[in-house]
Amino acid sequence: KFDKDYGQHILKNPGISDAIVEKAYLKPTDVVLEVGPGTGNITVRALEKAKKVIAVELDPRMGAEVTKRVQGTPLAKKLEVILGDVIKMPEMPPCDALISNTPYQISSPLIFKMLAMPNPPRIAVLMFQREFAKRLVAKPGDALYSRLSVNVNFWATCKHIMKVGKQNFKPPPKVESDVVRIEPLLGSARPNIAFEEFDGLLRIAFNRKNKTLRAAFAPKEIIGMCERNYKVYCSLNNIPIDESLADISAGGDDAMVDSADIDMDIDGDDDAQENDEDAGGLDDEDEDMPAFFKEVGEDFKDEKTPSRNPKSKVGLVVRAKIAKVLNATGLAEKRSRQCDQNDFLKLLLAFHEEGIHFS
Ligand code: SAM
Repeated sequence: KFDKDYGQHILKNPGISDAIVEKAYLKPTDVVLEVGPGTGNITVRALEKAKKVIAVELDPRMGAEVTKRVQGTPLAKKLEVILGDVIKMPEMPPCDALISNTPYQISSPLIFKMLAMPNPPRIAVLMFQREFAKRLVAKPGDALYSRLSVNVNFWATCKHIMKVGKQNFKPPPKVESDVVRIEPLLGSARPNIAFEEFDGLLRIAFNRKNKTLRAAFAPKEIIGMCERNYKVYCSLNNIPIDESLADISAGGDDAMVDSADIDMDIDGDDDAQENDEDAGGLDDEDEDMPAFFKEVGEDFKDEKTPSRNPKSKVGLVVRAKIAKVLNATGLAEKRSRQCDQNDFLKLLLAFHEEGIHFS
């Protein structure tokens, strides 16, 4: 009996399990991490090719199933089953390859967890619901372009490799699936910036991806977060805060937005699409939300009227710095849905130059 709450859709076509393992190009020296082995259809094939398979399984019944399947065979000593929720593990076990017929509830957190690993696997072959897979390969301007698309293509290369019809699963899911191959950038190819910083910037930018970046950075909660981080940065680095910037900001004649701009900015696009992270219910990005976003919660998402007058002087300094960066990069009027990863990198580096951080 399969548990839908655990996203249990077992592969019944051995050809697909073979193809998934084959597309990972495993070496005999590889340690493979499999998320959700279920009854072990993919696991046994990976065990035949690799040095070791670490299988993380939430459902103890399935953990027992996969263990039983290899018991008494030479494959048994290569298998380590860890019972638990892979997303709740403080760190994923180090591995050379990640394989999963991914339970749909953890699609997004699993990708983020892998990309944030300091030493990510060389290759990941993952099956997802089709809509989700499309988000991974979406390009600027595409309807499904999101914070996830930017992150994946910034920290890795991602390729669609196979379509899988729902009749290949037991029980069949509601939607079709796709297999993608993700190859994280490793060593010196990996961008030399903190994952949380780049992602922190994208969270702000994609909170309303159809708005201009100027509007995305206007809410008082965003200024407040940047202010808190800026104070920490200045005190850690012994940097005096130049309060003269506060006067420029208080004048209000800068790149910051006012309510009128924001109203004009509502350009007839479907509002439901604006909060792209809510679309489709395919993933739960709240899972990996940092405390700041949780605190602010819905107020943050619904923020339409930015504060023109941050309460503190440092708030005004930060507001002026944000305006300066948006103007200097020429991105103030651009919308996140049109920005590519180089735009976001340029923006992040310019913010860092000004001492503004997002994590
Ligand atoms: N790999 C098997 C196959 O392809 O036939 C089963 C895949 S099934 C789509 C997903 C599996 O992931 C289930 O066995 C489920 O119990 C397990 N699972 C669900 N959530 C999980 C989590 N958070 N951590 C680890 N395993 C999980």
